[in-house]
Amino acid sequence: MNAKELELRSWIRAHKDEIFANDAVGTGCFSYSPGEVVWAVTKQCNLRCKHCSISEEAPGELSTEEGFELIEEAAKLGHVKFAFTGGEPLLRPDIYELIEYAASFDMQVVMATNGTLITDEVAKKLVRAGLERAAISIDGLGHAHDLFRGVDGAFKATIRGLKACTNAGLAVQLFSMVTRYNYEELPGIIKFADSIGLWRIYLIYLIAVGRGKEISHACLSPAENMKFFKFVLEQQKDVRVWLKPICNPQYWAYLQSMGLVDGNKPQFTGCTAGITRFHIFPDGDVAPCAYLPVTAGNIRDAKFLDIIRNADVFNALRERRLKGRCATCRYRETCGGCRSRAYAVSGDYLAEDPVCMLHDESKDENE
Ligand code: SF4
Ligand code: SF4
Repeated sequence: MNAKELELRSWIRAHKDEIFANDAVGTGCFSYSPGEVVWAVTKQCNLRCKHCSISEEAPGELSTEEGFELIEEAAKLGHVKFAFTGGEPLLRPDIYELIEYAASFDMQVVMATNGTLITDEVAKKLVRAGLERAAISIDGLGHAHDLFRGVDGAFKATIRGLKACTNAGLAVQLFSMVTRYNYEELPGIIKFADSIGLWRIYLIYLIAVGRGKEISHACLSPAENMKFFKFVLEQQKDVRVWLKPICNPQYWAYLQSMGLVDGNKPQFTGCTAGITRFHIFPDGDVAPCAYLPVTAGNIRDAKFLDIIRNADVFNALRERRLKGRCATCRYRETCGGCRSRAYAVSGDYLAEDPVCMLHDESKDENE
């Protein structure tokens, strides 16, 4: 291990309580106990993001009453994280009602938004309804963000929304896509988030589903992804904001392979799709992850809990019936490969994750 890696290991050890705290590591693609239920409440959006995973062809959205029923079912799982997403969830007129209803249960209620519709008044209403946290998307600073999001002025409106949230006392984190298009923007985004005291950024690998299929060439290659992991580690040492690679469970295997973290920590469960993560599309279809459009049933035809407990796709993921290199990999339990990425590339959600340089055979080449 060279001097830089030793320094990193000592930094991670000094911060391990924060890294391994359930709410720090236990989110996104990583295990959140007892689970994370994400409901895409609408397909409508006021932006035109190049990478958007949501299909514009989804038919009728769930009604308010159907949403209430879903929330009640999710609450039976225990203290889950319940996330509203879209499209842009603020375009749904009943969003405050839905948040309020979810907050009346013992759940952590959060929302992913592009931030552009959040004024001071909207932020206050969200807090009053019981929202605990907003995740706001930024893929570049200024014009770079507008280009990616397909609308001039989007960045300015997003920053206004972000400030309105923090002024209203709402915790904010960032979502940032990681692609060849905006890779050079990442240091600036991290610096910006750190400078305004945000506590976490999800750095999201582009999964080529939905509109993202059209820009699949912008996905990082395996070698570029490894470079990205190194970049994240090096950045993390110098900033307070937490950097979390998402759609990239290999990150934790990578830390483990370098001896930087203890792979036996129970929080390291790798890809959580269908295990502790459940996604409901606007029309009520239930899938294991937003980026894994393998429908296991629809809540208009069956109870949400029955679907996630009995459907074959959920059983296969829970049992980690993996194929290819992921089946025999030493990091099978820590990582398991991004099931969405396997699906996007091969059409098989149990196939090996194609964006990996950590599997046993090539490990020596990367040490
Ligand atoms: S499928 Fe990919 S994006 Fe979804 S939870 Fe697993 S690692 Fe994360
Ligand atoms: S081979 Fe699969 S399980 Fe192993 S590190 Fe790569 S993606 Fe993860």
